[in-house]
Amino acid sequence: MSLNTQIFLGCILGIGLGFLFARLGPEAVIVKNGMFVCGILGTLFIDLLKMVLVPLVFTSIAVGVANLSKHSQLHRVWISTLGFFMVSMTLAIILALLATNWLKPGQGLTLDLFQTANQNIAAKQMSFGEFFATFLHGLFINPFAALAQGNILAIVIFALFLGIALVVGGERYRNILLLMQEGQELILRMVGWIMRLAPIGIFALLAQLLVSQDKAVLVSLLEFVGLVIGTTLLHGFVVLPLLLFVFTKIPPRKFFWGAREALLTAFATSSSSATLPVTLRCVEQHLHVKPNIAGFVIPLGATINMDGTALYEASAALFIANLVGVELDLAQQLIVFFTSMLAAVGAPGMPSAGMITMVMVLQSVGLPAEAIAILLPIDRLLDTFRTMVNVEGDMVGSLIVQHLVNQNADFD
Ligand code: ASP
Repeated sequence: MSLNTQIFLGCILGIGLGFLFARLGPEAVIVKNGMFVCGILGTLFIDLLKMVLVPLVFTSIAVGVANLSKHSQLHRVWISTLGFFMVSMTLAIILALLATNWLKPGQGLTLDLFQTANQNIAAKQMSFGEFFATFLHGLFINPFAALAQGNILAIVIFALFLGIALVVGGERYRNILLLMQEGQELILRMVGWIMRLAPIGIFALLAQLLVSQDKAVLVSLLEFVGLVIGTTLLHGFVVLPLLLFVFTKIPPRKFFWGAREALLTAFATSSSSATLPVTLRCVEQHLHVKPNIAGFVIPLGATINMDGTALYEASAALFIANLVGVELDLAQQLIVFFTSMLAAVGAPGMPSAGMITMVMVLQSVGLPAEAIAILLPIDRLLDTFRTMVNVEGDMVGSLIVQHLVNQNADFD
């Protein structure tokens, strides 16, 4: 049986078991034991992916940049990558704002949680300056500390610098580049082994996910959940494939077929970073993106390009405003727009990371940070979809960037 079939089976069985356990109730002995085993298996799978993550990101970006051996190409890849990231996240947020303003989830629902918070909602807005200062400060960190702490954003920045230095240094540093290339190949070999365990890991993670959702809260938030899932899927299945088709003429079916392993892994792990090794494998081996483009766009995208997260942050801010009974005017929605994008850029590709940066979006328009309590119970569910679209955005980006760069005839 192929690995893909095994992963698909893992999904189906995991969902089935999750539902079965949810029906039996958390007190049943078999459920307790089953969840214990699933917990160990799921965590082991994620741990294995995380084990290879830091060396992989570091070598991928440095080697990816260093291989773009001409300045003009480096420039072109940079511009197209960042340009695509901005456009796709902007579209995601616009979609969220339009849909949430239209359907107004949470209106009419009054929650005790906000009774006191309500009185404090002055124009307590976080300034853009403050936010930028904090964000910029986190970019440049001692690389050894960043590597040891697994600080992906700082690692990405240092690897970019190193890659650029290798490009500028040229022949003189060929040995260092070769060493890093071989290091990356070794890590990818390990990724291949870890992927053999993916069906079991995904099975265990999905079973756990479905059994641990708090149903009562889910019901009251159903409208919002439906809206976020609907718009996220619309972005993932209509907007992104359309962008891809317009630029590259690659039909959606072909893309999804090549991307499916990474999408399923993202769905099951809720982590763009943990999925990164699989994403790289999919774009390079199934979608035929050149390693030097993929090695640049994918790790950078896993950290800063998060369409699903941006969409969710904007939608959730408006939802909370509805719950609190505050009408956000156009200017405030613009702040939500910008802070959602920054919150998505700043969120590391980890489960529920967007939840943490959500606080920033809420506070920027004077909404109570306590409101994340209402979002927490549904976060794991929504995180699956948004992470899948985050990863999809990175893959679409690498294909579009490759197409744009290939128009430059002397690129090899
Ligand atoms: N889990 C998301 C990711 O890894 C980040 C988020 O929480 O939105 O892409």
